[in-house]
Amino acid sequence: MVNTSFNKKEILTLLSEIKDPEIPVVTIEEMGMLRDVIISNNGYEVLLTPTYTGCPAMGIIEQDILSTLQDAGISNAKVTMVFAPAWTTDWMSESTKEKLVQFGIAAPVHSSCVNWLSPRNVEVSCPKCGSKNTKIVAQFGSTACKALYSCNDCQEPFDYFKCH
Ligand SMILES: [Zn+2]
Repeated sequence: MVNTSFNKKEILTLLSEIKDPEIPVVTIEEMGMLRDVIISNNGYEVLLTPTYTGCPAMGIIEQDILSTLQDAGISNAKVTMVFAPAWTTDWMSESTKEKLVQFGIAAPVHSSCVNWLSPRNVEVSCPKCGSKNTKIVAQFGSTACKALYSCNDCQEPFDYFKCH
């Protein structure tokens, strides 16, 4: 028998605890990845929008979602990736961006979304000392979602969460 005794709000509450495996200080809900839950006669469908196409963390997140629901007694769930509209850093709240900075990742600069194709023009603040005197080292940092920057003042390398 199909278990549909949970309502949408309860499912979202369960899933809002799941952390982004790449940035364990924020949840997938805070990142704006958790889009919706659809309840039908076939069970639960969780709609998820990846922060970056081909982001390797998405497989981990999908497993986390399914096992979280399974722990709550839900086995008839599936995860569907939704690519349109594409994820944007605007879906992150200011407090989420603040958490990224505390974690040592420079939060996306809003206006940089437009300029990402020419990242040298983007003013990225160092999360360690706040200096804007930074330079891009590599287009891809520890994951494809991030670029590697380094600070000219404190000499510290840091990840910049890409705006796209
Ligand atoms: Zn610095």
